[in-house]
Order: sequence, then C-alpha cells, then structure tokens
Amino acid sequence: MVSIEILGGKDEIGGNKILLEHKGTKIFLDFGMSFNRNAYYFSEFLHPRKCSGLGDFFEFGLLPDVKGIYREDYLTHMGRYWEARDLDGVLLSHAHADHAQYIHFLRWDIPIYCTQATKIILECLQKTGNNIFSDLIDACETFKFYPNKNGGFSRVDRRKNEYVHKRDFRIMEEGKKVTIGNIEVEMVPVDHSLPGACGFIIYTDEGNIVYTGDIRFHGSNSNLSRKFVARARDAAPRWMLCEGTRIDSYVMDSESEVQKKISKLICQCNGLVFVEHPIRDIDRVNSIFNAAKENEREFVVSMKLAYLIEALDKYCPFCIDEVKILKPRKNWGLINKTDVTPEQIAQDYEKWERDFIDRPNSIGCNELNKTPDKYVVSMSMWEIGQLADIKPTNALWIKSSCEPFCEEMELDEKRKMNWLNHFGIKHENAHASGHASGEEIREMIKEINPEILIPVHTERADLFDNII
Ligand SMILES: [Zn+2]
Ligand SMILES: [Zn+2]
Repeated sequence: MVSIEILGGKDEIGGNKILLEHKGTKIFLDFGMSFNRNAYYFSEFLHPRKCSGLGDFFEFGLLPDVKGIYREDYLTHMGRYWEARDLDGVLLSHAHADHAQYIHFLRWDIPIYCTQATKIILECLQKTGNNIFSDLIDACETFKFYPNKNGGFSRVDRRKNEYVHKRDFRIMEEGKKVTIGNIEVEMVPVDHSLPGACGFIIYTDEGNIVYTGDIRFHGSNSNLSRKFVARARDAAPRWMLCEGTRIDSYVMDSESEVQKKISKLICQCNGLVFVEHPIRDIDRVNSIFNAAKENEREFVVSMKLAYLIEALDKYCPFCIDEVKILKPRKNWGLINKTDVTPEQIAQDYEKWERDFIDRPNSIGCNELNKTPDKYVVSMSMWEIGQLADIKPTNALWIKSSCEPFCEEMELDEKRKMNWLNHFGIKHENAHASGHASGEEIREMIKEINPEILIPVHTERADLFDNII
C-alpha cells in the first residue's frame, strides 16, 4: 500500500510536510515552516519558546506530533522518553524556509536528500541567518551541561565539538536514481526563484508518485521545468502532488522582462539606484547584475549576499570579483575611524563578515554618495538604515519582490515608503513570481496525466477539481 499524508502544505501556501509510506519505508517530502499558521499566533517579537522544546510547536499545530522523527535533546527536555528512529529520509525540494526550515527539529541521523546547491544555501542560512532554529547542516545539542574547569557546569555551545552533530546529507544528481528502503527516487531539477530547486519522481511497485516542489516556466532555467514535465509524464504516475500557488492567476510573468524593465529604469535615473529583491533569488540577482552592466554601472551587494555568491560558486552565473561589496557601519561604527586598528574594527562585525572588510572590491557608503550614477545597490529593509549614511539625492528604489501578503509586511512597506519620502527617493516595481501561472499549471498536469491529483502549496485546491 502507498499512503500519502499531508501534514503541512494543504490549503495553505508553503509549510510542506508530506509523509509518504510504502511497505514500511517512510519519507517526508519537505519539512517546511508554515508562515500563515506561524503568523496566526506569533510575530517578529513573539516566537515559540525554546524552553518548551517542541511543546509550543505541537500546541499550535506548527509541527505534527509524529513519533521517531524529532531530535532527542528537545524530546528529553520536554519529558518524552527515547524514541527509536522511524523515518528513512527527507526529500528536500529546495531551501526556501517554507520547505526546509523545520529540519532544525529533526533527528540529525535522518538522511536529507537534496541537490548540492540546496545544501550550500542551507549552510549560508545557518551561518549568516538570524533564526534561532537553524540547525540545518549540523545540530548542536541543546539543554546540555558539561563539567567545567572550576568544578561547576557550563552550558554546551558550538565550541564543544563533541556535542555538534553533522546531519546526514545525501546529494542527489540528475539521472541517478536512489534507493531508499522499498522505494526508488529520482531528482529532477526545475526552474524556481532559488538555485538548486527540484521535483521528485518516486517509484514504487504499486504506482509512481510525482512531486513538483515549487515550479515555474518563466525563469532563466525554464528548460529544466519542461524537462521535468517530460520525465514525469514518462513515469506514468499514479499520483501527482502539484503546487498551486498561482492556480488562480492568469498573469504571465517573465524574468527576462524584469531585467529589461530594471535596465530601462536604471537608464532613466541619474542618481543612485537601489533594488530590493529576495536575497537568495540568484536568477533575479543575475538580472540586476546584467541590468547594471548594460548601464555601465557596478552592482553593489551586501556582505550576506557576497557570502552566498561566493559559497554558490559555479551555481552563480557571475563571481564575487565582478561586483562591489558594501561595508556597512555596524555596532560602534569604527570602520571610518583612523585612530583604530583593524582588530578593533573587526569587532564590529560577525566572524563571517570580517573576511569582506579588506577585499579590493569592498566599498563604503561614502563612495556611493560621491559617484551615485556609477552604482546599482542591492538593498533591503534589514539594511535600510544605511540610507542615513549614504544621504542619496535623485535616487530610485526598484522593488523587485512580491507584494506584502500579511499585516507585518504591509507595515514594513509603509515604513519603507516613509524612508523613501524622507530622502525624496522615487519608487518603481519590477517583479516576476517564483511560481507558474494557472494556465501553465493546468497544462503541466494535463501533460503529466496522473490518475490522482493532489494539490499542495495552494489556497485554491478547488480550482484543481476538473483538470483531469
Ligand atoms: Zn514554497
Ligand atoms: Zn519556493
């Protein structure tokens, strides 16, 4: 028997946690965080508490209470007995938080099957992110003490190597099937707004299963999605788990149109140009990079984006030496002072940031102020404080990200507009979605032609009713 249980991602966009079972083999398809469900009870300032281990997550239905999958340190802390492992792996479609974030809570000996680029992005998220639940690559035992030199007990942290456990990553390659217990799995890359995204075809002796992950047909890798559809059709699947974020949308997006629009907007501006974009959408980052080049401007990135570009290496179409890295003033702001040593300056920055301070291609806000028409700057609400250092005139802000979809984002948007008004910055939009349109989804389903269609990652499952 094949059993498919949707424990997250049903009637909601994201939070995918799909439990698949066949003849004793159990796997999860993705293990993501549900933004909607989380925002219902929590906010930027109110989080599930670490002190209750998994308790708050279970209480509010943020995590399914399934035995044999969660890390022992959290379970023990909340008074649960030791549980034998009861999961053979997680097939991770891509590194977006709504698919990957809750890996943090899983046992570290559960194999995670994903692409190399996905693993690299998870590494960056763990190292440079601001989430306290981000043991994605390795897990440090929590709620543990070790005997210290003074005869007392200290809390374990990441410096204690013996308490840090590497997760069991299994990198998947195109065209190579992997056997997990009684099933076989094939990873097929797809086009999405993040490098490394893929769908899966799962082969069982009672019928095959296709999982789209998040997919689109209008990015620079649209050929991948078309190949995925062909592979999936050839598998003659019994079941198809299909994402439907934009099943109700007729808007046909195009990443190449986004690049053209950004390029045109830059051309019309004689001041500094800021672009707000999803930081890990390397397709978009590349569109901005190209648009800047077309206008003979340098693309300036944050240290966080610089770290990602460097880590992605061949998975990013350009290299770190081809952009400028912005050194922000942080903490005590010693970067511009002349009476301090490099060591003193370094203390203003996180360890991973320090490496970018003295690069030949790193620049300060003063340079953006001096020759604003030479640069296009990657910018976000996290870094907007730097406008007070840059003091731009005749500048343009291009919003190249999705519209706000919750109250918190709407508030952020209003606050951003206050900043832009304060500095007299013009505001324009240029964006394409990470997801296929309704028409494209329907076409894909018809071509793959499954016996049973299971909509996930959508608030409009009803629109899937008469497709097959
Ligand atoms: Zn998603
Ligand atoms: Zn996604």
